[in-house]
Amino acid sequence: MKTCEYQQIDPLALSTPTLPPYDGREKREKPRRPRRKWEVFPGKNRFYCDGRIIVARQSGVLPLTLGLILATSGLFFIFDCPFLVKHLTSCIPVIGGALFVFVVITLLQTSFSDPGILPRATPDEAADIEKQIDNTGNSSYRPPPRTKEVVINQQVVKLKYCFTCKMFRPPRTSHCSLCDNCVERFDHHCPWVGNCVGKRNYRFFYTFIVSLSILTAFIFGCVTTHLALSTCFCPCSDRNCRHSSDINIQNLLVICFFSVWSILGLSGFHTYLVASNLTTNEDIKGSWSGKSGEEVTNPYSHKNILINCCTMLCGPMPPSLIDRRGFLPMDESVQTAGTDIELPTVAPKSEINAVGGSPQLAFVLRNLPFLCLYSPKPT
Ligand SMILES: [Zn+2]
Ligand SMILES: [Zn+2]
Repeated sequence: MKTCEYQQIDPLALSTPTLPPYDGREKREKPRRPRRKWEVFPGKNRFYCDGRIIVARQSGVLPLTLGLILATSGLFFIFDCPFLVKHLTSCIPVIGGALFVFVVITLLQTSFSDPGILPRATPDEAADIEKQIDNTGNSSYRPPPRTKEVVINQQVVKLKYCFTCKMFRPPRTSHCSLCDNCVERFDHHCPWVGNCVGKRNYRFFYTFIVSLSILTAFIFGCVTTHLALSTCFCPCSDRNCRHSSDINIQNLLVICFFSVWSILGLSGFHTYLVASNLTTNEDIKGSWSGKSGEEVTNPYSHKNILINCCTMLCGPMPPSLIDRRGFLPMDESVQTAGTDIELPTVAPKSEINAVGGSPQLAFVLRNLPFLCLYSPKPT
């Protein structure tokens, strides 16, 4: 009797597939292993270390990036540092080592952190948005409008609907086709770091390219100095004595020469973006350049270089929204239902859900067992 009453009044049990019927079978089943959210993540990302590390599926260029940094730095430490320590100062390998460690740490931070992925809409949320898009209730023949307009700092910003994530993308959000996720403040997908660059890892990316520029320029300067000093300090008159080492130095000089200009150029470009609070995506698309003749300004810019830099690089780190290490609620429910189901604790929840907070109906539902029990025996 009691079970029957609660099944009738508990919409939670009807709408949520996680609560099993009360036939006692679930109790006999082996308890399931709680699953984390990254195990069923819908995007094309890879997860390692139980969801602590997230990378794009196509992250094959990342080992090449690491290899190039390791090889260039290794050649420098092997062929240049001993000579420069002997003839110049012992600070050179210390500075080079510190820069190298910093570059590798920022690279790994960029590659292995959540760039700002937005979780996809749940079926209920997607259905609600669909209803909002087409409130006529007849969406079978007419495609819904794909844009919404919002005003940010007196500037009209269009929000596009993402058919994969089933939601209107927030401002500055784009869907990365390689990772199959909507990423907040999407800058670009960088194959060199094997990850999207977005709201949560842009500061690491910027620090990486700036520190890499400094490291490359430092190695270039040291190699040039080595080459210049080696001719002055060589006591041997035989030209063949340092021929082999000179070849290595010259190779390193050529690598650094090309790396310095490309990396310095990239750092300069991103410094301009940081100072103007722009993303690479917005700059390439010309979102705020007024190409179409309209008078548009970047609504996200604080009109001050210093504030723009502080906002983008020193602001508080936004939390990850995908909660990839969190447990799936389904498994939580199964576990809870399988271990201890306390009907009296379910009842008040179901009353609140069923009546939407109406005290009269809640009172009736609460006293339903007593009404049923006592009504057949009127005195
Ligand atoms: Zn999307
Ligand atoms: Zn991506």
